[in-house]
Amino acid sequence: MEEKIRQVAQWILHSRRIVIFCGAGLSTESGIPDFRSPGGVWDRYNPEDFYFQNFISSEASREKYWQMATEMYESIKGAKPNQAHLAIAELERLGKLDCVITQNIDGLHHKAGNSPEKIIELHGTALFVTCLNCHKRYDRDEIQERIQKGIKVPYCDDCGGPLKPATISFGQSMPEKETQEAYQRSSSSDLFIVIGSSLVVQPAASMPLVAKRNGAKLVIINRDPTPYDHLADLVINDLAGKTMAGILEIVRSELA
Ligand code: NAD
Repeated sequence: MEEKIRQVAQWILHSRRIVIFCGAGLSTESGIPDFRSPGGVWDRYNPEDFYFQNFISSEASREKYWQMATEMYESIKGAKPNQAHLAIAELERLGKLDCVITQNIDGLHHKAGNSPEKIIELHGTALFVTCLNCHKRYDRDEIQERIQKGIKVPYCDDCGGPLKPATISFGQSMPEKETQEAYQRSSSSDLFIVIGSSLVVQPAASMPLVAKRNGAKLVIINRDPTPYDHLADLVINDLAGKTMAGILEIVRSELA
């Protein structure tokens, strides 16, 4: 494992356009459960209840959605960045980060200190709520207060449209600008590092492939195997926090 960590650090030192691609596994060490691990969100809820089409068409689905989203927000709200988030922010300060493409909705890259222009949030953010009708944006805490007071499904103050956290659900269109930019950055990267993603959610999971096809080295750091491990130049099946801390230590000392 030491040898692999040293190898990734060397690649970081010798690469110019480093893209880091993250999934829910990056934030489990901050106390936010992922979707697919035992005890994760899909152990307790049925994903089909959360398809966008169902949210649009049924009050009962909206109610279940807000119940799940409220439970998830409880863990997101007080969460702090862990060693892996902090290492990614430090890579930016060291001039070693082109961007971080994140599937996460927890805002922890911002809290860790990455600059907003370096963060591409592919699946939106849980820190805001939007009206699906007039697109008015609300602070999430303001809407959670209404839920705490007993409102099961919140609606827009201005137009009465349904409110939904500003995240992308199954069946909902991906944000155009972010998706385009993520593909463009992936294809021009020379080192693409996946951290904490099962790489099964599309189209996000196709980005490592795009990077690899365009000549990038591909590194996958994930506790469990992924469907793209056979394409990677290096796979580390370990926890994100200690792995990223180990890599950063070498990068820092070589740059000092
Ligand atoms: P996923 O749940 O499908 O997979 C998470 C992966 O992370 C697993 O393969 C697991 O082995 C690995 N993992 C868990 N803890 C780890 C750790 N400490 N170190 C290294 N690896 C670890 O997550 P995904 O690939 O991101 O896709 C699911 C969707 O879930 C995404 O669209 C994302 O938007 C959403 N999601 C986000 C959050 C969040 O914002 N924190 C939380 C749950 C789900």
